[in-house]
Amino acid sequence: MHHNWSQLVLQKMERYKTSMYEAERYIWEHPQTGFKEWDAHNYLKEKFTNMGFAVKEAGNIPGFSFDIDTGKEGPTIAIIGELDALIVPGETDSGTKTCVMHACGHNCQVSALLGIAGVMADDEILSKLCGKIRIVAVPAEELTELAERVQMRQEGKIKYLSGKTEFMSRGFFDGVDIAVMVHTDNGEKAGLTIRAGTSGIIAKRVIYYGSKCAAGAAPANAVNALYAAQTAMNAINALRETFPEKQFVRSHSIITKGGETVQHIPSEVIVESNVRAFDYNVLKNINEKINRAYVAGAVAFGAQVKIEDLEVYIPENDSDSPELVNVAYEVGCDLFGKENVRLNLQKRGGGGTDMGNIGAVMPCIQPLSTGAGGAAHSHTYQIKHPEYAVFHPAVLQAAMACVLLEENGEKAKKIIKEYKPLFSSIDEYLAEMDEIYRTKKHIEYTNRNSALLNW
Ligand SMILES: [Zn+2]
Ligand SMILES: [Zn+2]
Repeated sequence: MHHNWSQLVLQKMERYKTSMYEAERYIWEHPQTGFKEWDAHNYLKEKFTNMGFAVKEAGNIPGFSFDIDTGKEGPTIAIIGELDALIVPGETDSGTKTCVMHACGHNCQVSALLGIAGVMADDEILSKLCGKIRIVAVPAEELTELAERVQMRQEGKIKYLSGKTEFMSRGFFDGVDIAVMVHTDNGEKAGLTIRAGTSGIIAKRVIYYGSKCAAGAAPANAVNALYAAQTAMNAINALRETFPEKQFVRSHSIITKGGETVQHIPSEVIVESNVRAFDYNVLKNINEKINRAYVAGAVAFGAQVKIEDLEVYIPENDSDSPELVNVAYEVGCDLFGKENVRLNLQKRGGGGTDMGNIGAVMPCIQPLSTGAGGAAHSHTYQIKHPEYAVFHPAVLQAAMACVLLEENGEKAKKIIKEYKPLFSSIDEYLAEMDEIYRTKKHIEYTNRNSALLNW
């Protein structure tokens, strides 16, 4: 590294410590789920506007971006924070209660943006760089409340069910060359972990339609939608032996509607399901098999089925850009010491994120900070050390942007040149998402002995 960016950024970041910590607490105390994060949005918008930034809002949904421009030609680096909290099902000490909380630490990410923007706009820093830094606060990373989002989609309020894809479709990532984000992880000591990436996910809903009939009096005339769903789920379980072993394939479901009343044969049954795999093409292939099984379950009973493939999280591949890993690693070592930076490029997480969807069109990285405690996505989750979970990630990301954009953006240009994205453009990526998104009926019964199936 030509400059010691870490030390300079660290020193300048001190000024923003209090405001970042205040934001972290405020947003923690005002958790809202995806596409409804207005408290965090309004709080941050006011802070950034007071700092002099021209915030461009999404409008009918929370989230915004703004650019910090060096005035010199060069690459654009997006630094991202997620706004949303999630629903945690009951596990509290005070009895079972479902609550909305920041059980994934996203409040830390967006709070860090305050310091990052402040430091990146500093004249001494900006004058040494080229290109632009785009600060983006995105909604709706967690795949939750899908029925509500489908409704929003039908009403034309959104086009996609995840925040980053929606933001890509609205132009928030147009012109961005590299994307950076830091997610909190547990840890009692300052440090950083760089992983291979995450799993891909297809989130789906499957609805079976039978016929309503009195269960006691006339079951012989009925088409039982619950048995159709059960038969499909048995077929999926038997299919598991065909899943590639090293791909971490998962297919897990819940039944959110099992029928109407116990006196009636179930006529409508709703299954919600996620399919997961490490590789995008494997994921698509497994999803086809699973859809075939869902259709087969319906045919066995002469029922109808509607499969809704609602949202795709493409696997995040942090290790696909060795040079970007290197930048994170070197800045991390500068800040935390080599012994506190873990390069875990063999290991992939079973979770998923729509940061992978950004990575499908440009180089991206999402290392993990320390500072959280308890279990992620549970009531026990907490931010134990704001210094590690907010302040350090702010320094890290700002210093990384400096390294990428110094010396005519040489490092950034090399990373962009060497990266092989899954899709050559945001438009091509969105076309693929449109093709996967489906909500249609799959069986056409043509006469007594035949049916046309497609899945
Ligand atoms: Zn999460
Ligand atoms: Zn998260």
